[in-house]
Amino acid sequence: MNIYGITDRGRVRTQNQDAFYEWTDGTYAVLLVCDGMGGAKAGNVASTLAAQQFAEVLAQSHGGVQERLRDALAQANEAIYTRSRQDAACQGMGTTLVAAFAGEGRAYFINVGDSRAYYLTPDGIRQVTRDHSLVAELVESGRLTEEEARSHPNRNVITRALGTAGDVIGDIFEVDLEEDSRLLLCSDGLSNLVTPEEMLQTALAEGRVADCCARLVALALERGAPDNVTVVMLDTVPKSA
Ligand code: CA
Repeated sequence: MNIYGITDRGRVRTQNQDAFYEWTDGTYAVLLVCDGMGGAKAGNVASTLAAQQFAEVLAQSHGGVQERLRDALAQANEAIYTRSRQDAACQGMGTTLVAAFAGEGRAYFINVGDSRAYYLTPDGIRQVTRDHSLVAELVESGRLTEEEARSHPNRNVITRALGTAGDVIGDIFEVDLEEDSRLLLCSDGLSNLVTPEEMLQTALAEGRVADCCARLVALALERGAPDNVTVVMLDTVPKSA
């Protein structure tokens, strides 16, 4: 297993409020992306706190993977919510979170908000997670196309976030990992500018996950990168010799 993550402030924002985490021991891997929101530096506090807390709780937990993901999410939510009520500068802050736990031919995902997970094989790419956003609801009901959603004026409005209330519900997804497959997690700063087809083409053209991530960020920067851009990639099971 090879894993790599990268984040970039982009060309317009003065701060980077995205955060990511990646870990592997060669057999298992954990990767996540958070996209914070809130005034001043609060968005950054929320995303960093979520990433740290989620990774820490997950690493220390035992039992079924789904339960561990839910528990890590709940504790990350509580950490942000508590902080937002203790610190006036952090009032109302929140963050998205998308995380994956992979190993032994299977990957489990949990998400809140509009940061995404994609599953890539040499044959195709598909979005694993469903966004909790206004435009995603419009796309699902057929009132907007994916293309229109990427440039919609309200594309940043999310309908679920971590840390804005005492409780949050994350959606869980599972995928069987094929040989030569990859996982890609990203913030909307990437998915609003780069299509899934382009992500797949980049993955097929770039062998190393680090090169692939760097190329995807470069593509977003070439297109103006109005938002922070974050991408984490895992290549899962190497093709047998
Ligand atoms: Ca964003």
